[in-house]
Amino acid sequence: MIVTDATTLVDSPLNDSPLVESRLIDGKAFAEGLRGRVANAAAAFSDKAGRKAGLAVVLVGEDPASQVYVRSKGKQTVASGMASFEHKLPADATEAELLAVVEALNADPAVDGILVQLPLPAHIDEQVVIAAINPDKDVDGFHVVNVGRLATGLPGFVPCTPLGCLMLLKDRLGSLSGLDAVVIGRSNIVGKPMAQLLLAESCTVTVAHSRTKDLAEVVRRADIVVAAVGRPEMVKGDWIKPGATVIDVGINRVPAAEEGKTRLVGDVDFASVSQTAGAITPVPGGVGPMTIAVLLRNTMVAAYRNAGLAFDADAL
Ligand code: NAP
Repeated sequence: MIVTDATTLVDSPLNDSPLVESRLIDGKAFAEGLRGRVANAAAAFSDKAGRKAGLAVVLVGEDPASQVYVRSKGKQTVASGMASFEHKLPADATEAELLAVVEALNADPAVDGILVQLPLPAHIDEQVVIAAINPDKDVDGFHVVNVGRLATGLPGFVPCTPLGCLMLLKDRLGSLSGLDAVVIGRSNIVGKPMAQLLLAESCTVTVAHSRTKDLAEVVRRADIVVAAVGRPEMVKGDWIKPGATVIDVGINRVPAAEEGKTRLVGDVDFASVSQTAGAITPVPGGVGPMTIAVLLRNTMVAAYRNAGLAFDADAL
């Protein structure tokens, strides 16, 4: 389940020491900059195309985390100068009804990007729905055509969270060529595309998962560690090569010290890992804010492409 990370850095588990501050990768600030660049590109698009770029989000049912995500996305889409279209279907909507909505959005020239919010209710086959989205509007990058494009090095849409992680890594490290990278987790939405992206940057990539033997030893070899597991604070400080860069994708809600309250933690034990790592993303305020910013970036790319206008996506 995707939980949005809308909390500010003020709430993050930061150690006050200046040493750790300098090691911090501030995803919230980077995402803000990216949204600003997207907004400039969106304004230029409106001038050239005579219409706003448009992102449609389809939500089925009332999953609370999905509702938060969709609301936040809609607000940020509009704030970036794009049109936001929301389609809400009841939890008992049939697969055929959802497919009809997707088909209508595929055919709508005002819609550049389509996102069907996951997870879908159990009676709907997610793969069938994803396969129905026009790959050129698949701004989530989940369609098998875009998965294939990523694997073969062709231009296409890349899932937002791993692309956001790559942007943070390149911003911090510059070239990643020749570095040893360990990705923990092999999901289709994070682990696998993350590994493909790092391979394309000429890293030597290891993908670890629940059957990996001696995970700590595998992680200790890495210059770059990306943790996308869903297990609170699993990665410990003594697993980390001194100076390594650690990207924590995990968003886990755990009980807080105060009775009845909860707090967000990552898959990385920030307190110990931040003492060994050369750079680290906090939770919240690291990878989380990047996901929607990259979604807006992908929509911008889709809009220029769909309108037949030239656009330098790397400048974003
Ligand atoms: P997922 O589909 O549940 O995949 C988890 C992966 O972790 C699986 O490949 C699993 O291995 C592996 N794993 C589980 N236990 C392990 C262990 N003990 N040792 C090593 N590997 C283990 O999760 P996901 O969708 O990729 O998400 C991962 C985390 O990222 C979650 O906390 C999620 O909330 C967060 N997330 C955040 C964002 C964001 O915007 N920041 C976006 C997406 C996800 P097997 O394949 O062997 O089962």
